[in-house]
This record gives sequence, structure tokens and C-alpha cells, in this order.
Amino acid sequence: QEDIFKKLVAHCKEYGYVFQSSEVYDGLSAVYDYGQYGVELKNNIKKYWWDSMVLLHENVVGLDSAIFMHPTIWKASGHVDAFNDPLIDNKDSKKRYRADVLIEEQLAKIEEKINKEIGKAQKRFGDAFDEQQFRETNPRVLANQKKYEELHTRFAKALNDNDLQELKQIIVDQEIACPVSGTRNWTDVRQFNLMFATEMGSTSDGAMKVFLRPETAQGIFVNYLNVQKSGRMKIPFGIAQIGKAFRNEIVARQFIFRMREFEQMEMQFFVRPGTELDWFEKWKSIRMKWHQALGFGEENYRFHEHEKLAHYANAAVDVEYKFPFGFKEVEGIHSRTDFDLSQHEKYSGRKIRYFDPELNESYVPFVVETSIGVDRMFLQVISAAYCEEELEKDSRVVLKLPPVLAPVKLAVMPLVKKDGLPEKAREIIDKLKFDFNCQYDEKDSIGKRYRRQDAIGTPFCVTVDHQTTQDNTVTIRYRDSMEQERVAITELGKIIGGKVSM
Ligand code: ATP
Repeated sequence: QEDIFKKLVAHCKEYGYVFQSSEVYDGLSAVYDYGQYGVELKNNIKKYWWDSMVLLHENVVGLDSAIFMHPTIWKASGHVDAFNDPLIDNKDSKKRYRADVLIEEQLAKIEEKINKEIGKAQKRFGDAFDEQQFRETNPRVLANQKKYEELHTRFAKALNDNDLQELKQIIVDQEIACPVSGTRNWTDVRQFNLMFATEMGSTSDGAMKVFLRPETAQGIFVNYLNVQKSGRMKIPFGIAQIGKAFRNEIVARQFIFRMREFEQMEMQFFVRPGTELDWFEKWKSIRMKWHQALGFGEENYRFHEHEKLAHYANAAVDVEYKFPFGFKEVEGIHSRTDFDLSQHEKYSGRKIRYFDPELNESYVPFVVETSIGVDRMFLQVISAAYCEEELEKDSRVVLKLPPVLAPVKLAVMPLVKKDGLPEKAREIIDKLKFDFNCQYDEKDSIGKRYRRQDAIGTPFCVTVDHQTTQDNTVTIRYRDSMEQERVAITELGKIIGGKVSM
């Protein structure tokens, strides 16, 4: 599985999806650029999210707030004081790690041991295998289960109490070694703020320290009243936004899973106090359906309850996907109470309320948030789509991207570069290019061209041959089944349109 991940990273580079930032200067850590196909896939993901949130929900509207905001916003939101990661250094390798991640990995290792044991028994007993009973009786599974639960409880408590010494003690007690040096020579755990700061204005007139936003959500909160009033919005309603966020993450080799500059798609849904947990459940279910509608297999998704609720939340859950490196968070759904709006009331001195005509009273709305990373979704989609297939005579690498997300929808290929076939192919593209991203391809044999389109995930290839010039029909070839059929050029728009819409 790790191997597949390496191949996927190489594939993303080779086919113009993702490049390391500043590569000619040996790269900048945890920052990436999107190439010619990457940017298309990214735009399609954003559109798929935007349309399903803003167009399909009458009571959700959009926003595009600035990255720079008044610095007090980050004081009010709690980010200045509490947006920290607990870090620990290995004294031998001088490498820095997140203490909580080291412990999470330890938990995952124990879980893996249990799963291995179950897998072995499953193979041995076949259909007669009863997993529940095995879990309850097998001594090795029971012992590991106990270990897991003890560690989990201790870890959750340390996080909740913000007890840095205890985090270090867990690492020592669990005998966790540095992945690089292999030693257990650790420093104490320290808090490290994740926000990037810069200066606004020239120093002579007094520069102001401002932050690059670490989430898009606060831009929504501080515009709540603007949107509510100007749009005459009635609660419950939502505001959705897509934009860049920045976090000074301590990471290594996680590709675009965890970056220092990334993009978020967030929606804050404002509701009447007391109804937030119902809305939380509703959005949980809507968002899970959205993920599963892409067709990557329901069994590859799960909800994960948080070990620790953030200071602003009264409920929180992650949507996790089974990446090649295990189940990991793609999206967070949080019931943020009235924390943010109340804080902004307190710090700004302005009233941030809603007058509810049905109740005939004013209140600070409660908020349910759905928050997903564009880049993480990109990685989820591309790792689910990546396939190596053995065929009768050779093999192929194919990106089985959902047609709605595929960067190129249609490749049009003249069989030969003469006899008017290139012109005919261009004519087809000229008709379809307003509706679909089309690509013209005349280089190499048809077989090679198909492989190239498979590798970038193009769902349809159309070949123009001599018959086309006589009867205006072409061969359409489907990426996943590799089947081909002869259809009229006039049919193409309908065939492709039926598959690439939401
Ligand atoms: P984690 O626990 O993985 O650090 P988080 O819980 O801090 O993430 P949120 O603050 O809830 O994440 O952010 C919402 C979403 O934004 C995440 O589900 C993820 O998809 C995305 N995201 C967060 N941080 C990053 C990052 N550094 N790089 C890429 N995407 C990110």
C-alpha cells in the first residue's frame, strides 16, 4: 500500500497533476503546485462542492472574504492563544515531531496488530468465522484491545487537560522511538503556534502584525451580519466559502495530505439555539452522501468521533476515507455553538444577533460547520481513482476519475494525420469545446494515445477515421470498460453530457 502511494506521487508529477513547489531550487517543504491537469481537477472538485452546497440549497449563499483580517479576530477566535501543536524533538536526529501524532501512530499500530490477528483467523476458518466471538475470546486480541483502550483513555485525558508532561510520559512509557534515529532520546513537549505572521503597512507609520488566516471560517463569522442583513436571510441559513488557509505544520513526507498553504471549502450554518445537534446530524448525513455519491465504495468511508472536543464545540465528527496509508480525515463537521459569534461580540463591542420573528426575540445564533480541504479531497479522489490493470497482452495505469471531476472529458484523435481527418477532428472539438474540456491528440499510434488518456483519466476518446468523412460517425471508446462503439457525431454531446453532469 505504501508502495502504491509512492507510485501515485510519481504519477501525479509525470502527468502534470502535482509538482513540488520551487522544485528547481530543491523544493519548499509541505508546499505544492498544481500542474495543467491538477488545476482542472481541483477546479472541478471546487465546483462539485460549490454547486451541491450553494446551488442545491436555497438557504446557503456564498462569500469570498480576504485572507488578511484584523488581528483582533484571531485573538477573539482563540487562535492566538490556543491554535497550537504539542511538539517534541529527538535529541539525536534533531527531528521535530507532533507528540500527539506519535501517540496516534502507536494506537494505529496496536489496531493493526488486532486486525492482523483477525485477518489470519478469517482465512483459517472461512465462512464459519465469527468476528465478534473471536474478538471476545482470543487472548492475544483481548490483550491488545486492553492495551489500546488504556492508551486511548490516557491520551484523551492528557489532550483534554492540555498536560504536556503527561504527553511526554506516554511517549516514554510506550517506548516510542524516533523514526529517523531509532532512539528514544526525547526533549520535553512544547506548544507551538501554527499561524504565520507578517507585517502590514510600512514601518515608519507603524507596521501592524497580521496573520495569514489559518481557516476560512472566521471570514464568514465576521461577515455574518453583512450577509444576513443584505440578503435578508432567515435562520436557519448557511454561508459557504472556498479559499486559501495557511498553517505552519510540522510534517514530513505526507504529500498534499498536510500542507503549509492549502485550500478549504467551509460552510457555516446558523441555527436557532437548541436545534444545533439536530442540524449537526442532518449535515453529517448530507456530507457523507456527498462523498459516497462519487462512487468509490461506501466501505471506504467512516465517521470518526474526536478524542478531544475543541474549546468551541459541543459535538464534532470527522469523515474519514481509507487512504493507501490508512483511514484518515477528509472533512470535519463541528457544532461550534455560539462561541465564535459571542467572542466577536465581546471583542468588537458590536451586537451580532438575529431577531427571530417567530420567537419574537433576539439571540446569538448557534453554528454547525462543515469543513473540508480541497487538496485533501484531491488526494482522496486521485488515490481512489488510481488503478494498475493487467490486460491480456500488456498492462495500463488508469485514473478512474468520476467523469464529473475528470480534467479532460474528451480526447479527439484523427486516425492518421492526412486525408482531411485532422480537420474533421478539429471540427468536432469546435462544436463541443464550449461544453466540455476537449483535447486534440494526433501523435503516436492510437493505442499509445489511449494509454496516455487513461493515465490522465479522460473518460471518453473519439477516433476520426476515413468512414467519418463519408457518414459523419466516429468510434467512441470508454475509459473504464475499454469498449468501443460507432456513433453519429451529432450524438456525442448527449452521450458525454449524460455522464459528466452532477
Ligand atoms: P488535523 O487534525 O488533520 O490537523 P484539523 O482537525 O486541524 O486537521 P480542521 O481545522 O478541522 O482540521 O480543518 C478542516 C479540514 O481542512 C480538514 O478536514 C482537512 O481536509 C483540511 N486541512 C486542515 N489542515 C490541512 C493541511 N495542513 N493541509 C491540507 N488540508 C488541511
